Amino acid sequence: MTPPIRNAFRLLSALSIAGWVGLARAGDGEEPICRRLSRELTSHTRLAGTVGSESGARWVAERLSECGFEVELDRRVVLLSHPRFLHVSLRSGDEELFARTQTFDPRAIPAGDVPIYSAWSHSGRTTARVVDVGRGLQADYARLARAGVGVAGRVVLARYGGAYRGIKAKLAQAHGAAAILLFSDPEEDGAGKGEVYPKGRFKPGWAAQRGSISSLTVAPGDVTTPGWASPPPGVQGRRLSAEETAARLPGILCTPIGADEAGAILDAGEDARVHIELELERKLFEIVNVLGRLPGTGEDFVIAGNHRDAWVRGAQDAGSGTVSLLRAAQLLRARVDDGWQPRAAIVLAFWDAEEFGLIGSTEWGEAHAERLREHGLCYINADSTVSGLNFGIGGSAGFQGVLNEVLKRVPDPKSSGGNLWQAWQSEDGKPKELRLLGSGSDFTVFVHHLGLPALNFSFHGNAGGQYHTSFDDFLQMDRFLDPTWQGHETAARFVCELLLEMSTRGRSGFDGAEAAAFMARLVRRAGLEELDGEPWLGSLHAERIAVQFDALQGRLKGLETAYRFYQELLQPRGLQGRPWYRNPYWAPGIESGYAAETLPDLRRAARGEKGELDSGVQTLVDALEAYRSTVSEAAGAGTGETTTR
Ligand SMILES: [Zn+2]
Repeated sequence: MTPPIRNAFRLLSALSIAGWVGLARAGDGEEPICRRLSRELTSHTRLAGTVGSESGARWVAERLSECGFEVELDRRVVLLSHPRFLHVSLRSGDEELFARTQTFDPRAIPAGDVPIYSAWSHSGRTTARVVDVGRGLQADYARLARAGVGVAGRVVLARYGGAYRGIKAKLAQAHGAAAILLFSDPEEDGAGKGEVYPKGRFKPGWAAQRGSISSLTVAPGDVTTPGWASPPPGVQGRRLSAEETAARLPGILCTPIGADEAGAILDAGEDARVHIELELERKLFEIVNVLGRLPGTGEDFVIAGNHRDAWVRGAQDAGSGTVSLLRAAQLLRARVDDGWQPRAAIVLAFWDAEEFGLIGSTEWGEAHAERLREHGLCYINADSTVSGLNFGIGGSAGFQGVLNEVLKRVPDPKSSGGNLWQAWQSEDGKPKELRLLGSGSDFTVFVHHLGLPALNFSFHGNAGGQYHTSFDDFLQMDRFLDPTWQGHETAARFVCELLLEMSTRGRSGFDGAEAAAFMARLVRRAGLEELDGEPWLGSLHAERIAVQFDALQGRLKGLETAYRFYQELLQPRGLQGRPWYRNPYWAPGIESGYAAETLPDLRRAARGEKGELDSGVQTLVDALEAYRSTVSEAAGAGTGETTTR
């Protein structure tokens, strides 16, 4: 059980201060530094485009300045979707079973709590019967169709889970529904799991998950500037027309509702009608990315980033990432004071408007594409970083050497004397393979558009039902998710050590041979996968690609330019139907949204005309052969030495 709030400091003192003296800088009975940072950060709401976000940006900038970082406020004008008026009610005959009306003004000072809404929903009103569509995925609509149930003109009711919510809205629209209501099944993160907030950590029946329903899998970022950067204030940049923009946004009414409301709808029977009125504002607003820089000796740089915006107060999402990175900034500062000099520069990025569709990071990445390609070494992502003490990490292969070193230096908060390396090993004593990054957080532009290697990590285990609710707040964090604040402190220590190691190793921190070996395994695994009882790619096809990676392995070993390995794999024309995504080896799944799907275009080709798959495989083989010959030339020209500047 988690200790009560008043005992948290005592517990921290008793269990851990001995091992953390000089790091946490909290004496016996003093408030842990991360707790104070989180308390300050989460005392205001931080929705992008509101005054809360602006003061949050200043607060982050001040904390970075205190640590001696050069601070830049990167301001951009982007399209956002704010709620203005929201109404949902249920009637059966003359009886009103429930009614909820909420209003919001994004220009209010101070910014208030953001009501329960789905960003990018269409505006309008409807009154209709409700169809329960399960999770609202393709299989659910197929099942309903087989049973003779149509959803055209109806309001569909869908449970969260199984895919990105934007995909559910898209499917509901495609099937002709008038509106979609989303709710969290209380069996998954509410009363069915345990005590609800504030007594426990699970979701009360009145709370609901906010979120964006934009088309992440087509292109993240500002929808009016797909593939190029949105301009700073006062600059007239190129944008899509209003019609082009509207075509890329949902055309359906969508809003989350609480489990209590969903229960009332499910109990109301056939004759009940739901009335929905939604007024949202799609307007240009200024957003602010905050960047802090610790200069290195050359032009190269490593980035650690996290989004600083939140739906409401966001203590976990992504306040826990923000606090961890700010604490890492303090730890790095201490190393510099001790005489350490960064080789590659260290950039700490605090992105805005992630919640609306990864906007801040995407626009910044597009604006700095050239510099990133030439000098970006790695992107390390923090987001909802802390909800417990269980360490997990995913990302691009190529940093095993760095991780081996770094994880051994960071104590595991769950075991006395243990370290994160031990915590991360699988049962057979081998390090776990990194899970591929799909989408749903700020690594997306770096991994899928720019070809930078990226890592994404978290400390989890205690999460309740707080995700995107108003009770993802300081109390939830302090009582339930990280009551000792050791998750935050360990996350900060990990980021500090990782940045330190990557900065010091420079370009040689990335092991191209390891990455090539991983890609060969990935492709061979796909060769064995079956679809409807048949291999969809097949071992022969897979082998043709995999042997290219085998051949690259030896040549990339110790090669300075190997840090650009993932850039070399990019397909300049992009993926089919989504040119912004340029990584042909994995992409967020069209039908899942968050999770990565390997070889996305080949998968499509396998379902298409005969011969499409052959030519798709040939395209990859040709590109890899071309890469191999440039690598061979470079090696032949004698630049094979690891000479990082
Ligand atoms: Zn987040």
